[in-house]
Amino acid sequence: MSNKIEFVKREQLKEKPDPKNLGFGQHFTDYMLSYDYDKDKGWHDLKIVPYGPIEISPAAQGIHYGQSVFEGLKAYKHGDDIVLFRPDQNFKRINNSLERINMPKIDEEELLEGLKQLVDVERDWVPEGEGQSLYIRPVVFATEGTLGVHASHNYKLLIILSPSGSYYGGGSLSPTKIYVEDEYVRAVRGGTGFAKTAGNYAASLLAQTQANKEGWDQVLWLDGVERKYVEEVGSMNIFFVINGKLVTPKLDGSILPGITRKSIIELAKKLGYEVEERHVAIDELIELHDKGELEEVFGAGTAAVISPVGKLKYEDREITINNFETGETTQKLYDHYVGIQSGKIEDPNGWRVVVPKY
Ligand SMILES: *Cc1c(COP(=O)(O)O)cnc(C)c1O
Repeated sequence: MSNKIEFVKREQLKEKPDPKNLGFGQHFTDYMLSYDYDKDKGWHDLKIVPYGPIEISPAAQGIHYGQSVFEGLKAYKHGDDIVLFRPDQNFKRINNSLERINMPKIDEEELLEGLKQLVDVERDWVPEGEGQSLYIRPVVFATEGTLGVHASHNYKLLIILSPSGSYYGGGSLSPTKIYVEDEYVRAVRGGTGFAKTAGNYAASLLAQTQANKEGWDQVLWLDGVERKYVEEVGSMNIFFVINGKLVTPKLDGSILPGITRKSIIELAKKLGYEVEERHVAIDELIELHDKGELEEVFGAGTAAVISPVGKLKYEDREITINNFETGETTQKLYDHYVGIQSGKIEDPNGWRVVVPKY
């Protein structure tokens, strides 16, 4: 399908933000993609419309009962081209999330085609500075304006675009300090942990705020049943370098299956690392640290790509990892990953997808 979708033009284009001060998710482009669902028509009316407020019923089910899922990916500038990174994976995942929250699935190819046409229209909004990108946020939420508790009969999908700055402000990787949360939990097996749904974030904010108040950057979640096994950080999956081996918690329903996580595993194997996906107990990590075998720790997610962890606090212990410096493996994986994303390294797996000029 390469038919051009409906395009509703705005009267006046916005002024572009200062590329030196983009931040994250603060500026939005001129247009967004919009798609509606109702029970009788299914998904319909896919179009590019001016970015702006939308009208919604005060009784909308999405507001009251949390039927809302989202995605996050980035577009980069490579010379004249605009490139997406593994976008097929995001549309596959949004369908898994939609299914879990009892929302209607979308046609992955149709939506990817719609996204390409939107990004093509917004080419001039993709920043070109080192580490900068156009952040892409698809979101789907229930719009039926009735209060009876049931799966909504109406939904809206939007894709909005936000030119964003480098996570590291253009500088080198800098280690973060992480609080291991031993009271609150984010998700349980059988729950919604593997879905990218708004409710998971709602459940995580209080712990995040408390950790921030005490000077910690992010929270590392433990499993929801025994609070014993490590799951993931805020909006990143977590990796450990143990005796030269890459170890990451295995996916068993309560962890978000990150596309960065998956790509790092594939890349690390290609680079000759042994990779283990398994349960990792927090007590094991402390023990390994005390024996000098916990060499590096890093988070992996679309926003930061890779974020080295320099300190972990668990109960009354504070441990420092690799002298609070970015480790060799962390740096190497980061350089390769960003090299592929930015077009500096060849892309044997076809992870880069060029946006056509329509
Ligand atoms: C989005 C997300 C991640 C990272 O996924 P990527 O596809 O790598 O960006 C990790 N954990 C949570 C909870 C997330 O929402």
